[in-house]
Amino acid sequence: MSLEYHNDKLQFGGQDVTSIAERFGTPLIIYDEAHMRGMMRRYHTVLSSHVEHYSVSYASKAFTSLQMIQLLKEEDMEIDVVSSGELYTAIRGGIDPSRIKFHGNNKTPEELEFALAQGVTLFIIDSLDEITLLDEIADSPVNVLLRVNPGVDVDTHEFISTGQTDSKFGLSIADGTALKAVKEIEKAENLDFKGIHYHLGSQLSDPAPFVNALTAVYDWLNDHEIEIEILNMGGGFGVRYTDEDIRFPVEEGFDEIFTRLKEMTSQYGFSIPHVIIEPGRSITAEAAITVYEVGTVKDIPGVSRYVSVNGGMSDHIRTPLYGAEYDIIPVTQRPDGADSTPVNVVGKLCESGDIIGKNKPLPANIRRGDLVAVKTTGAYHYSMASNYNQMLKPAVVFITSDGVREVIKRQTLDQLIQNDVLMED
Ligand SMILES: *Cc1c(COP(=O)(O)O)cnc(C)c1O
Repeated sequence: MSLEYHNDKLQFGGQDVTSIAERFGTPLIIYDEAHMRGMMRRYHTVLSSHVEHYSVSYASKAFTSLQMIQLLKEEDMEIDVVSSGELYTAIRGGIDPSRIKFHGNNKTPEELEFALAQGVTLFIIDSLDEITLLDEIADSPVNVLLRVNPGVDVDTHEFISTGQTDSKFGLSIADGTALKAVKEIEKAENLDFKGIHYHLGSQLSDPAPFVNALTAVYDWLNDHEIEIEILNMGGGFGVRYTDEDIRFPVEEGFDEIFTRLKEMTSQYGFSIPHVIIEPGRSITAEAAITVYEVGTVKDIPGVSRYVSVNGGMSDHIRTPLYGAEYDIIPVTQRPDGADSTPVNVVGKLCESGDIIGKNKPLPANIRRGDLVAVKTTGAYHYSMASNYNQMLKPAVVFITSDGVREVIKRQTLDQLIQNDVLMED
């Protein structure tokens, strides 16, 4: 992250954070556009160095908006969507529908109809029942990938292979369901089987699960003589939230992954497929910070200090939801100030679990009106924001080479009730 202090004031992407916060208000999500472009280009460079045909397809659930789609288009990216809403945003942002992939474990008939009408040409089938559904709804052949479950269990450091994996996503290659699905797709009149998709997990810091999945999938393809044109390896490339986390090593990692792909395809005499990857978090997470204003500071003598900010779980749900850790830093360093002291930074919503970070070092004299920045909030923050406690969704801005540009306006009070219907007198 391009974060540094200049005369004790935090600068992000070369811009003064206090000035941006004064202009747009808080809570505010600020993205460094150059960081996102840099990550997109890095994936293009790495993949194009290994294979002739590839796509980098951004998982739009991480963060989407019209300008985000425009940015993706400029960087020659493709887009994953999982709902009519994500699809609509992508189309309205101006991406060509042929660059959109429709995912999801429960696409409704209405969503499939909408996607076909919009001109989406690649669907990722995630269940046996979806085969019949899509075949019935489509009236001319559409390209499909089958989401398989390669039986590779992952965590951040280790991986183990298991015969069967318990998941709502994909069809197991181990228990024969995936093979059955391939046969049914091949029989279906309006479906063209193009290949395989899998998504192994999130925050992966090690290429081992990807390498292991290639082995499992190619053994299976060879056993059943299944030819594929497209291989979609999913996303989940890890980012650094705090210094406990290890980033996925993009260059070295894909070296290992493509070495295994080439070994497997040449061993079995398959051609090298068109390779798709689907990074979400790794493009946007480290590109953004959220800026909040401090309100009440409450001391519980001998126990702890609570620093409340003007947002919370309505724009920062990953900590309440699964204990995610973030770095929190002051926007102005206080030369007059005392040392750092551990404090609990909490939101203003009505849940004890509305915590942004526990025991985070902040200046001991932090007080009402100070600004704090939470790092690495570019993925699964705005997209998971809610209106709990009728909180307004924050504004989003991008720092660009020409300055700061508004991307999403702050929600208004009128927007909060725009769909409400009053009783008649
Ligand atoms: C969520 C998801 C991704 C992106 O995961 P990240 O951890 O954000 O990179 C990619 N593919 C599929 C199918 C997903 O569900």
